[in-house]
Amino acid sequence: MRVYNFAAGPAALPEAVLARAASELVEYGQDGMSVMEMSHRSKMYLAIYEKVDASIRRVMNISDDYKVLYLQGGATLQFSAVPMNLLTPENPAADYAITGNFSKKAFQEAKKYGSPRIAATSQEQNFSRIPQQDELALDPKAAYFHYCMNNTVYGSVWNYIPETGDVPLVCDMSSCILSGPVDVSKFGVIYAGAQKNMGPSGLTVVIVRKDLLKGSQPFTPTVMDWKTLAEKDSMYNTPSCYGIYFLGLVLDWLEDLGGLEAMKAINDKKAAILYDALDASSMFKTMIEPAYRSIMNVTFRTGSEELDAKFVKEATAAGLVNLKGYRDLGGMRASIYNAVPYEGVVKLVEFIKKFEQENA
Ligand SMILES: *Cc1c(COP(=O)(O)O)cnc(C)c1O
Repeated sequence: MRVYNFAAGPAALPEAVLARAASELVEYGQDGMSVMEMSHRSKMYLAIYEKVDASIRRVMNISDDYKVLYLQGGATLQFSAVPMNLLTPENPAADYAITGNFSKKAFQEAKKYGSPRIAATSQEQNFSRIPQQDELALDPKAAYFHYCMNNTVYGSVWNYIPETGDVPLVCDMSSCILSGPVDVSKFGVIYAGAQKNMGPSGLTVVIVRKDLLKGSQPFTPTVMDWKTLAEKDSMYNTPSCYGIYFLGLVLDWLEDLGGLEAMKAINDKKAAILYDALDASSMFKTMIEPAYRSIMNVTFRTGSEELDAKFVKEATAAGLVNLKGYRDLGGMRASIYNAVPYEGVVKLVEFIKKFEQENA
């Protein structure tokens, strides 16, 4: 029996997509082999690749000013690739907003390849909020401004797109990409690991504005040089062939559903019933100020570690799995990505109410 999986990543995948992947796993179309067995340079695989590239461009409304790269190494490798590709010895300056653990890691990594500054942080408020536009200490000479739109660990989201003038916006969208429409034209670079909303782990999507493909710092490994990767259509070396194919299936599923507007409406509805239940409860407390609450990762706790542990254990027994919060943070986290169905969140809400009654 399939459970409802609230994991933060690798995360739930749409059941219909898994079923389709299974049906074409051994023999894909008329090609007589699995997608996993195809040469990435073969005609049959290139047809898949081109279809996926067209799909993501259509779904996210990405213009020809951008190149979409399909890479490996996770969002974490892009923490290094971003400063390697965008900083130069002449301009090693970059602004970073620190609103959670991944943006902090990105900043730490950038220090190895340039001189990044912290333009804003909510660390003193335990990352329970997002700095607003007037709190950003912007350097107009920075090569870019980096932020993480949805903070997977803490469960917060930027409720606006920062205005940075001519300074390109670089955004880690790992845990919110494809959850709703975004105006790609506002960004210089968007990157995301696949294992939250796009498919299995092993694929990282990087959407780069073409004028930023100027070449990287000399010490950059070729396999991290966006310009080379763009020129080679992400096939400088072997890409995550199956991951790219799987992303295509997820995009087909999204389009059948009605695209990102429709997806956003479902996600809003899921988040609303969960936050409503938590707000109505006297046992559970949410961790993020309402204006900055993520609709992808919902964090909450009882205030008692024993009770939290009991909640997680009993939820698991009820088929609601992976609700334990991030290791350093404790409490609970329900990741309700695109693939977690509305019914799963309804079940979780019922469980929350029942647990409170039984343990009050
Ligand atoms: C999961 C996640 C990462 C790390 O991704 P990896 O693929 O493990 O490198 C980075 N940033 C955000 C926002 C994430 O959610």
